[in-house]
Amino acid sequence: MNFSHLLFTAAIILSSALNGQNSLPAIIIHGGAGTIERGMLDAETERAVRGDLQAALDAGYALMRDGGSALEAVEIAVTLLEDSPFFNAGRGAVMTAEGKHELDASVMDGSTKDAGAVAGVTTIKNPVKAAVAVMHHSPHVMLSGPGAEAFAREKGLEEVSNAYFTVPRIKKRFTELNKAEGHLPPEEKEFSKFGTVGAVAIDASGNIAAATSTGGMMNKRYGRIGDSPLIGAGTYAHDATCGVSATGHGEYFIRLGVAKDISDQMEYAGKTLAQSAEHTIHKKLHDLGGTGGIIALDSEGNHVAVFNTAGMYRGFRNEGESWTGIYRNEDPR
Ligand code: ASP
Repeated sequence: MNFSHLLFTAAIILSSALNGQNSLPAIIIHGGAGTIERGMLDAETERAVRGDLQAALDAGYALMRDGGSALEAVEIAVTLLEDSPFFNAGRGAVMTAEGKHELDASVMDGSTKDAGAVAGVTTIKNPVKAAVAVMHHSPHVMLSGPGAEAFAREKGLEEVSNAYFTVPRIKKRFTELNKAEGHLPPEEKEFSKFGTVGAVAIDASGNIAAATSTGGMMNKRYGRIGDSPLIGAGTYAHDATCGVSATGHGEYFIRLGVAKDISDQMEYAGKTLAQSAEHTIHKKLHDLGGTGGIIALDSEGNHVAVFNTAGMYRGFRNEGESWTGIYRNEDPR
C-alpha cells in the first residue's frame, strides 16, 4: 500500500468515525405512532415535543458514554418520556372508559434475557421503574394491578394519585371523543389512541436493552391490556440479534408477537434488521390490518424506525449522529 493509498484509507476510517455510523453506545426512542400530520401540532408544541425527545436521547446516551449500561439508559429515557405530558405514558396517558388511567410497562435485558413488566397500574409514578424492579427484585416477569402497586410501594417507588396522570389535552380529547365518537372520522379516532413511549439502547460492551411504557388505548374497558407490557409483543431484546420497542394497535401486535418476530427472522433466517422489521410491519402487520410501528437496534448498532402510520415520534443518538423525527415524509438523518 503506497502513502497516498494509506492516507485515503485513513481518511475514510476517520470520516466514518466522525460520521458516527454504527458507533457504540447508541440509543433510539419513540413517543408513539399514529395519524400525526404536518400542521396538527403548532410550532411551539412541535418544538417542545422535539425538545423532550432530545432530552430523553441525551440522558440515555450520556449515561452510557459515562460507562452506564443499556438497561440503565432505556430506564432513564423512558422515565423522562413518562414524565413528559406529550406522550401516552405516565403523565399524559390516555383515559379508560371510566375516565381513569391504567398504565402498562415492560423492560428486557438482551444479555441475560431477564425481563420485568407491570400491567394495569394506577398509582405508580413511573411504571418503567416498577418493571425494572420486578425484573431485579422478584422471581416473576409480570405483576398486575393492586399487587404490582403493593410491590412497587414495598420497593420504595414513588406513588401519585391517579389524577396526576391527567393532562388537559387528553381530558379534552376524552370528553370530545365521548361526545362525538360516532361522528369522528376513523383517523381521528386513531390519533387519540397512540403515543406509547419506548427506548432501545446498545452500550459500549454491546449489551442491548429495550423498554416500553403506555397508557394503552383511549376508552379501553374491562382491564384491557395491550402489547406494551408483553415480552415478545411490545418489547424484546436479544444481544445476538436486536432490541425492539413497539407502538400501535396492541391487539395486532400481540397476535403477531411483533418484537420477537423481528428478532426471530434475524436469528433463524439470517435477515438484516431492516429486512426483518420491514417484513413484520409492512407485510405481516399490514396484511392483518394493524397500524403502528417499531424502533430497533441490532448488535452492530444499526438502527431502524419502521411504521405504517402517517407519523411516529422518534429519535436516535450515537457519537456522531443525533436526530428527532415526527412525520413520515421526513428523513431526519
Ligand atoms: N400499543 C399500545 C397499546 O395497544 C398503544 C400505543 O402504542 O399507543 O396499548
